Amino acid sequence: MSEHRDGNALAGPLADIFTVEATTAEVQCRACGLSTTLAQLVVYGPEPGLVGRCPGCSEHVIRVATTPSGTWLDLGGATSFHFTSTATRASSR
Ligand SMILES: [Zn+2]
Repeated sequence: MSEHRDGNALAGPLADIFTVEATTAEVQCRACGLSTTLAQLVVYGPEPGLVGRCPGCSEHVIRVATTPSGTWLDLGGATSFHFTSTATRASSR
């Protein structure tokens, strides 16, 4: 695998999609069940897109790719996302 960054690398692309602070959301890995924040994912990319992998089992949790026609978002590696009420309140200001 190539060099990686932490999940904060997903903040820019996700800010275009979500109106809440997405990196503080708790996400559960579909493969191993580990719950972590989006910011704690291990992120590879940026080409052809960003891939956020589980810090526990390395399976992909989220994939984001921006193309000339728009942004693709694959959440298939997660069972759930939890956005705290603090994050959603902050974004509505
Ligand atoms: Zn996992």
